[in-house]
Amino acid sequence: MTCEEVRPLVHAYIDGELDVVRSLAVEAHLNTCVACARGETSLRALRTAFSNGALYHEAPAGLERRVRVAVRDARRAEGGRRFALRHYGWGGAAAAAVLLVAIIVRGVLPTGPAAGDLTAREVVDDHLRSLTANHLTDVLSSNHHTVKPWFDGRLNFTPLVEDLGTEGFPLVGGRLDYLDNRQVAAVVYRRRQHIINLFVSPVEHAADSLPVIQVRGGYNIVHWTKSGMAYWAVSSLSAAELGKFAQLVREDSSAVSTPHR
Ligand SMILES: [Zn+2]
Repeated sequence: MTCEEVRPLVHAYIDGELDVVRSLAVEAHLNTCVACARGETSLRALRTAFSNGALYHEAPAGLERRVRVAVRDARRAEGGRRFALRHYGWGGAAAAAVLLVAIIVRGVLPTGPAAGDLTAREVVDDHLRSLTANHLTDVLSSNHHTVKPWFDGRLNFTPLVEDLGTEGFPLVGGRLDYLDNRQVAAVVYRRRQHIINLFVSPVEHAADSLPVIQVRGGYNIVHWTKSGMAYWAVSSLSAAELGKFAQLVREDSSAVSTPHR
């Protein structure tokens, strides 16, 4: 077999999809051709890299459509001959894989090491720890007259603690937690079986900002600032419902106590 005959078959060869005769012919060629053998090695490395669990991220909404559009545009731009090469040549396979990875990474990972991104990651970590370490609350009460005073004396600010039961977000309790190496109030609410952690801490010199929603590790996070306090709400709840929760809290958060001491 020639290089031109072997190259289109290597994917199938690696995947064990060739019949015995062609598989042996490809193998014989790979044993004698350095260029094709190198191509096989990089394809296998690519496969291994893709099977690595650390690379797995939940695809954001619309990813499939964006990939399809990008591939279609690339196909148009390259024309017929290049199209064949892209499908069957080494460069083509690698380029398609790199394109896919670039789109996935750009869609999922932070675009820059902004402080907010690190905090968002911590918010999810804290949320998960509260659920898995069986330490959701230090004070367990659906009564904000119980939860709110509990924070007094434990923090140098008083977080907003509300009873949102009538709006479908019953209060579960509260606990102390950490974000950015600072102690924060974690006020816990519930929506059906979904737990919501609302982290509250004072923020200096920050203008009020509207709730912004983002997805991190499969969880929805809503962040906003109001009246000198920063809020992070995190939950497995849908973006729409968590957004509604944020709106409810935000409406009342102008009445919140500012930092004291
Ligand atoms: Zn060859």
